[in-house]
Amino acid sequence: MNISTRISSINAGGSDGWDLYRRARALKEAGAPIVELTIGEHDIRTAAPILQSMHEVALAGRTGYSAIQGIRPLRQSVADRIATATGVPTTADNILITPGGQFALFSAHAAACDPGDRALYIDPYYATYPGTIRSVGAIPARVMASAQSTFQPSAADIEAVVKAGPPPRSLLINSPNNPTGVVYSRETFEGIARVCTDNDIWLISDEVYDTQVWDSAHLSPRALPGMAERTLVVGSLSKSHAMTGSRVGWVCGPAEVIAAMTDLATNTTYGLPEYIQAAAVFALAQGPDFEAEIAAPFRRRRDIVIDLLARQNVVKAVPMQGAMYVMLDIRATGLSGDAFAEALLDATQIAVMPGESFGTAAAGHIRVAMTVEDATFAEALAQVLAFAGKLAA
Ligand code: PMP
Repeated sequence: MNISTRISSINAGGSDGWDLYRRARALKEAGAPIVELTIGEHDIRTAAPILQSMHEVALAGRTGYSAIQGIRPLRQSVADRIATATGVPTTADNILITPGGQFALFSAHAAACDPGDRALYIDPYYATYPGTIRSVGAIPARVMASAQSTFQPSAADIEAVVKAGPPPRSLLINSPNNPTGVVYSRETFEGIARVCTDNDIWLISDEVYDTQVWDSAHLSPRALPGMAERTLVVGSLSKSHAMTGSRVGWVCGPAEVIAAMTDLATNTTYGLPEYIQAAAVFALAQGPDFEAEIAAPFRRRRDIVIDLLARQNVVKAVPMQGAMYVMLDIRATGLSGDAFAEALLDATQIAVMPGESFGTAAAGHIRVAMTVEDATFAEALAQVLAFAGKLAA
């Protein structure tokens, strides 16, 4: 039997970029002492009180079908959190609860794009982006954000891709950014907003790292003038509350679009388990101090990186402004990110992601996830830098 083109072309026939990760995992499973600085998974587990609340709600019998758009208290908590952070009036009607930010990304593209429409995204990009766009039958169109502009996408470059083909329907952005660790400046956001308004494009703003911003306050482009009506914000408790496995995310957008997306949820996911939604309400009620506590290890480890980088001059930093990753420029070694990561794994048993796994703009870079405890992290990073130093010598 044939399978549909839509499904069989999700990865465009190529590698999904995770070859090194899989090799490191296989070595680890075979007993090798691999230090994994690859995926965006906290080294702590979901806090026990959150799991306790999940358990109690389930035992109390709330184990049946739940509200498909999301239970009102959860939508209200998410709306209040967004309104407080951004100043944009936001109600429970602006929120659809989804199984993770990933399904929020799918839902947002399904709402914005018809099959065959162009959907823009920025390179370097989070690994699933082009596949998510293809999953709704749209055509991914890439805008490069170059290393020399510190991975801030320029309005002129976005505009050029807009004009290079049929009018696109959406632009997907991500700040704080995975994989680069860069936070978009106000100027970058204003340029993006201008292009979206001038060309009548939906902005899909992936803000799943909104609590991991080191030098400034998180900026949401939905708060810029005229943008609330054309922005779909993707959020999640995965990173902010160390709840990756609970699969709680959301889309925030205009009420009529959220209503239409709820039809999609009715015919796909049928909503989230109520005990998980109730635990999400509990988690959000812990407030900003709890979120700061979950983010703190990444802030500390980023300071470790800054300190170690200052002691050498081969590996160059990309501004380390947010999210649980740092991107390091290893071009002085003469190797590609792919070759460097492979050689590093062989020589040191440390696994990092090649920049090339995230598109072409981050070639010659490696992405280091700051997801092991501080002392191990510092030791591993020192080895990465020593390895680069040896290659360059
Ligand atoms: N967006 C970005 C940029 C991510 O890095 C991730 C997960 N690594 C997601 C979305 C999806 O996260 P989740 O589905 O767990 O919310």
